[in-house]
Amino acid sequence: MTRGTVAIVGRPNVGKSSVFNRLAGQKLAITDDVSGITRDRLYAKCEWLDQEFSLIDTGGIELSDVPFMVEIKAQAQLAIDEADVILFIVDGRVGITNGDQDVINILHRSNKPIIVGANKIDDLKFMDNIYEFYNLGVSNVFPLSALHGIGFGDLLDEIIKLLPNKKEKRYEDTIEFCV
Ligand code: GDP
Ligand code: MG
Repeated sequence: MTRGTVAIVGRPNVGKSSVFNRLAGQKLAITDDVSGITRDRLYAKCEWLDQEFSLIDTGGIELSDVPFMVEIKAQAQLAIDEADVILFIVDGRVGITNGDQDVINILHRSNKPIIVGANKIDDLKFMDNIYEFYNLGVSNVFPLSALHGIGFGDLLDEIIKLLPNKKEKRYEDTIEFCV
């Protein structure tokens, strides 16, 4: 049984596709040889500790001929509509940008649980950068390096904690059924 859906949201170039590939456990990006553009996969099934969930990379859903902010707002809205947990990726080296702030404001208008992944923390020397991201109003901030695969165990533990359809529920149901 799938535990639910996680949607990845964030500005271009923060590492959403790289995080997606790490969570999906394999290199899934498809390169389009003709145009030289990397077309990223949007959906994957993920597994962690015997639990399964679906993953969406909203950054891969592109609208043509619209300004960047319109596109990213549409992606945020898609995450709100489709996901049980939202994974908001930021660039852990750049800090909070106006674009990040706009997107988080939209995300906060929903009641969906949000996790912030501060990506590109490739080295311990960047670790202190993550404190700034608590200003986004999210208590779950995880340092990540999609490049080196750092921080994904803790992130996945938290995702599993926040997803609905808990496995224990089945046992409760069984007990009720027996009574
Ligand atoms: P997206 O546009 O948000 O999907 O970002 P991508 O996954 O395509 O990554 C954008 C750029 O950031 C690429 O050049 C990646 O190689 C780089 N990148 C992604 N994750 C990391 C990371 O953890 N550390 C570093 N140093 N670079 C990263
Ligand atoms: Mg991408």
